[in-house]
Amino acid sequence: MTFREIIDSPSPNFDERRAEVRYLILHYTGMATGQEALDRLRDPEAKVSAHYLIEENGTIHQLVPEEKRAWHAGVSSWEDESDINSLSVGIELVNPGHDYPGYKGDYRPFPPAQMDSLLELSKAIVERNHILPWHVLGHSDVAPARKVDPGELFDWRWLAERGVGAWPAKAAGEMDPSPVHIRRMLKDYGYGFSGEDDAELRVVLSAFQRHFRPENFSGAPDPESAALLQALLDEKGKQAI
Ligand SMILES: [Zn+2]
Repeated sequence: MTFREIIDSPSPNFDERRAEVRYLILHYTGMATGQEALDRLRDPEAKVSAHYLIEENGTIHQLVPEEKRAWHAGVSSWEDESDINSLSVGIELVNPGHDYPGYKGDYRPFPPAQMDSLLELSKAIVERNHILPWHVLGHSDVAPARKVDPGELFDWRWLAERGVGAWPAKAAGEMDPSPVHIRRMLKDYGYGFSGEDDAELRVVLSAFQRHFRPENFSGAPDPESAALLQALLDEKGKQAI
């Protein structure tokens, strides 16, 4: 397979990694156009970046070399790690994103050309950096209280079926859907919690559901969520090196 062309669009917004790459973090840009997003990610005043940006037509830009620390994750946490920027490669997918206060979004499906480019690029990144399937994450997974990207229209299943990321093979049988049990499983899988309150559990569970059960991400604990979590934990436990 010949690798498609990657356009060099350097950003000054990076510094030195303090750890080796372990995660791949996917985002959407949440801005009206790809050009607007590209300009912002290259603006020294904005102090944000990503390693790559993929336009809706599939064009790939490289903004920061993979060996450098791009600034895409912000305040984040996974597996008790908090410097996710040091530990990850970040890809921005052009998509206007959801509404939020002060911004009118236009969240829409990620076109096939964009997904094909993402698959090819992320396969290469995962191989180069030995990233494990359950370490391919959304921004919302590592920052559930602040972020919802890439969102429920992002097809994690499609990506996993083609070799990038984790997907529960089959839901494990009847599982205890109590909040205590679900919280423990979410923590074991990698999600970060700051306390013990139920409001936070709903936010984190909603991020999990957005990723692994996008048709219902209300954040309410239920047996299916518990079963999906258990299936993923089984997979992670079985394949862990
Ligand atoms: Zn993001």
